[in-house]
Amino acid sequence: PETITIQELSNRMAERGVDVIKLLMKQGQMLKINDTIDADMAQLIAEELGHTVKRVAESDVEEGLFRIGDEDGDLVSRPPVVTIMGHVDHGKTSLLDAIRSTKVAAGEAGGITQHIGAYQVESKGQKITFIDTPGHEAFTAMRSRGAKATDIVILVVAADDGVMPTTVEAINHTRAAGVPIIVAINKIDKPDADPQRVRTALLQHEIVVESMGGDTLEVEVSAKQRLNLDKLLEAVLLQSEVLELKANPTRPAEGTVIEGKLDKGRGPVATVLVQRGTLKVGDILVAGGAWGRVRALLTESGDAVRDAGPSTPVEVLGFQETPEAGDRFAVVENEARAREVADYRLRVKREKAQARGSAARGSLAEMMS
Ligand code: GDP
Ligand code: MG
Repeated sequence: PETITIQELSNRMAERGVDVIKLLMKQGQMLKINDTIDADMAQLIAEELGHTVKRVAESDVEEGLFRIGDEDGDLVSRPPVVTIMGHVDHGKTSLLDAIRSTKVAAGEAGGITQHIGAYQVESKGQKITFIDTPGHEAFTAMRSRGAKATDIVILVVAADDGVMPTTVEAINHTRAAGVPIIVAINKIDKPDADPQRVRTALLQHEIVVESMGGDTLEVEVSAKQRLNLDKLLEAVLLQSEVLELKANPTRPAEGTVIEGKLDKGRGPVATVLVQRGTLKVGDILVAGGAWGRVRALLTESGDAVRDAGPSTPVEVLGFQETPEAGDRFAVVENEARAREVADYRLRVKREKAQARGSAARGSLAEMMS
């Protein structure tokens, strides 16, 4: 059931908490400022104090966000979005860097690339988007918020070290999310590399690679010597073809925040991944409890662009607050609507935190009594 703390209710009515508590006492309720009451009681109190009550259900505020359907005819192919996961020191960062430095999307060669948490490369004229924030945490954070921002996971396993606990964890997370895996057996340049041992060990976790008769693509690579990076990208494109990835570019944009930070000079800056629709300069968007009007869109090479379509990572300037990694974003029709959604979400967040706080105090009091 919907609840509210007495403090929050008083704040919203601009009444003193003590007056609300007195009224509740008249109703036979002996409560303190951080206690919660249900929506019916809150309404009664508010009306008693001469306020008009408009009860807003979550469905009203969130209505329309993320719910616009797309007709099949509007759907066009989009690039795959790839995350690299694997055990520490198996070469995730090295592989991301190697791919990035050899294959940065055409037109950006020679440009100064900056780290924005995601980048795009081109292979055989086709684009691939890599999310390069520390794979594991980003993936888990996004998943815990219900965002699915990855189409394919490249699982890096060092050939000299083999399948390790985090490798298994990554397999489990990926499987739970229903995302296909491509295995990159890394460090094959090392004298003690044993790729066959990796393949065999993966069998225990129900990953049967192609060379053993299964359907999981695997590529032996060396991030250090830049061996077989092309092969790895080809495997990504092959897997992506199977997935038939599509999105409607002609609709208000939706997607996921990859990174958010407060920049001294530029204010709140977020890297977002556009997943449906096209994000444009001037659009009003809301992400979690943050909202803003897009002042500029920047690629990882710092180029300003007018718009960004499906599977494009782009840096967004113009947020009023800094959104968090994993927040879903959506373009809305106007500023009032953006404020309404953002305010509502902040309020829910605050109330949840307060409820947790008073529950914790309650249990502490019980323990001490
Ligand atoms: P991460 O923790 O998974 O991001 O791993 P890093 O990319 O930081 O790599 C860990 C270590 O392995 C670093 O010392 C890298 O130089 C080394 N390394 C990564 N890839 C290779 C490779 O293909 N061959 C060799 N010999 N060393 C590698
Ligand atoms: Mg790393």
